[in-house]
Amino acid sequence: MQLYKDQQLKIYNSLTGEKEVFKTINEGHVGMYVCGPTVYSNVHLGNVRTFMSFDVIFRYLKHLGYKVRYVRNITDAGHLENDADVGEDKITKKARLEQIEPMEVVQRYTVDFHNILNTLNFLPPSIEPTATGHIIEQIELISTIIDNGFGYEVNGSVYFDVHKFNETNDYGKLSKRKLEDLIHNTRELDGQSDKKNPQDFALWKKAEPQHIMRWPSPWGDGFPGWHLECTAMSTKYLGETFDIHGGGMDLKFPHHECEIAQNEAAIGKSPVNYWMHANMLEMNGQRMSKSTGNIINPNELLSGNNDKMSKAYSPSVIRFFMAQSSYRSVLDLTDDGLKASEKGYNRLMEAMALISSLKASGSSSININEWLQKCYDAMNDDFNTPVLIANLFEGAKFINQVKEGSATLTVEDLEILKNSLNTFAFDILGLLKDAEAQSGGDKLAGTVDVLIKLRQEARANKDFALSDQIRDELASIGIVLKDGKDGTTFTVN
Ligand SMILES: [Zn+2]
Repeated sequence: MQLYKDQQLKIYNSLTGEKEVFKTINEGHVGMYVCGPTVYSNVHLGNVRTFMSFDVIFRYLKHLGYKVRYVRNITDAGHLENDADVGEDKITKKARLEQIEPMEVVQRYTVDFHNILNTLNFLPPSIEPTATGHIIEQIELISTIIDNGFGYEVNGSVYFDVHKFNETNDYGKLSKRKLEDLIHNTRELDGQSDKKNPQDFALWKKAEPQHIMRWPSPWGDGFPGWHLECTAMSTKYLGETFDIHGGGMDLKFPHHECEIAQNEAAIGKSPVNYWMHANMLEMNGQRMSKSTGNIINPNELLSGNNDKMSKAYSPSVIRFFMAQSSYRSVLDLTDDGLKASEKGYNRLMEAMALISSLKASGSSSININEWLQKCYDAMNDDFNTPVLIANLFEGAKFINQVKEGSATLTVEDLEILKNSLNTFAFDILGLLKDAEAQSGGDKLAGTVDVLIKLRQEARANKDFALSDQIRDELASIGIVLKDGKDGTTFTVN
């Protein structure tokens, strides 16, 4: 079904600051690239929000009948701690601190990332390429940028010449920055850097002798700069110019700005027609941050094993909660907000469960096709999921009205209502059907609590063999008990 021919989708383009009618480069096909995680720690809930926004976008584009090639990369090398190209590679640092191989770090956190996304019912992207798998492409790209006069080598590192680029191109057009302002606002790096100008960014960094992740190149042993991988991989899999590039708002500058510069310097073309940025996730009105302790990870939110929320929340409730805000708004995660979403989600599911038992009438008192178009209009308006959800609740209201006898629907209209609610709730918003799965998190937490109580009783009776057995058998299935001052808590590995 080529629904996209009847539905006029508009997308807010971060580059122009306007909602634009979506026109694909190739009829019926969409190329979409989203910057994936740097796999040096457990995935951050804020990143989950970004990826969930693009999961819904991916689902809707597919529903409209587009053939979508969705590329989401894994950054497994080259992401330094500091945007000014100083500091350690994040993965190398973690490997050093934990005394394991960098690729063990990459494996551990890639698996964690996939597990969380599977639990939250994400569709896998079409291609999930890695930076380390595309070193050759990145070296070729650097050579082209140097040949075109926009890159220079110093002491085994290669930098992008932002000043030279800005003479003929517009550096800062995505993030609406001017090079003069950047010059004014950049601190000098006290001779730490070989760059001609502090605004230049690394395409290739020389590897010091102790640096483990290193590859041979025309400029000596080293590793690629972070911005480069996305240009190399998006070009390889989606072409020189493609339809949609997405990511978190925090990537707009410098990361996406540098991607544009690299593409224009290498190929002479702007890479992307529609730039999309998902906004930040806060908790209790404040930025999530490890240093202030205002943080919760996805597993803790799902298991209820945390001191921020009163209970566990199911994958569907988390998805429903996130979809109740536009992807372009800052979203504030609160216990009250999640509870309200849980109520709303349950109300919608209860109404949808009733639909098969409704009696059809000879005529309809509700215009179902008009309602259905309102659902599409919401999604066509830059994927406005909160308005879509309001329309789904209207659909739930129709069900209750027909049940009470205050409205009527024909067999055909009942079928349209049922199919449309299923499509929008499950296929597009990605909610899960199975009610048992919804309460799985609650039930797990409740079950482990029972075992913790039994273990406490065993200890009180000095039956240490039994208390150790409970602890060890739980550990063998990945549930680790931790005894603290305020009692026993658990983590699910
Ligand atoms: Zn990227």
